[in-house]
Amino acid sequence: MDIIDSHCHLDFPVLQSQLQDVLRRADDAGVRQFIVPGVNRANWDGVISLGQQYGSIHPALGIHPCFLDADSEKSLTVLADYLSEYTADVVAVGEIGLDLYASDSDRERQLTILNHQLRLAADFDKPVILHVRKAHDLMLQQLRKIRLCGGGVVHAFSGSEQQAREYIKLGFKLGVGGSITYERAKKLRRTFASLPLTALVLETDAPDMPLCGYQGEINYPERAARVAGVLAELRGIDQGEIAAATLQNTRQVFRV
Ligand SMILES: [Zn+2]
Repeated sequence: MDIIDSHCHLDFPVLQSQLQDVLRRADDAGVRQFIVPGVNRANWDGVISLGQQYGSIHPALGIHPCFLDADSEKSLTVLADYLSEYTADVVAVGEIGLDLYASDSDRERQLTILNHQLRLAADFDKPVILHVRKAHDLMLQQLRKIRLCGGGVVHAFSGSEQQAREYIKLGFKLGVGGSITYERAKKLRRTFASLPLTALVLETDAPDMPLCGYQGEINYPERAARVAGVLAELRGIDQGEIAAATLQNTRQVFRV
């Protein structure tokens, strides 16, 4: 098997401090490439430098809606500079998005910062990595306004099948992660069992989103192989077939 973890935060201290081990165990499990998204200006140099050190690590740069700070508007200018300077290294703009989970979330500010980054992705001809919680219909509205020919990935997708199909129509792939390993996630499991395989990519979101059986523990990219196994069971096909199809999909989106 040859798997790309399409979303993991290898630069977060809990993983970076044991990176050699993390990468070796991932390799043993067949997980051999990694898309590492930025979350705000403070971690962009870190992900760029990982990409320069390891051919298997592909950085993305963006401002995550949960990591906004007082300087986020100013950081948008810096983001444009980085995308221009590191355009050969950076595979996507992300992660960016809308997170309306908290009742006090600043919807208008999130929208402004998202839309600015969607336009940067269009200008630099990059795909996007989207983080979306409690905001799929609002996100779909934005994507219909700013069409991205490079598409992108809706990471850790957990919306409805209808919403998934709307994203697919706009040229997006959906990230399948540890959530499907929980038996109680019946609706999400049905959704991922019935969507076209051409629309799915594997991810872990390590060190977050532990799989069933590992609750409360650090998550690792090696577990993308287990996600592939569970997806294969749900769809009644071979794990190798899942690995091959999702590898092709991930390569297509991120051009890696
Ligand atoms: Zn993430």
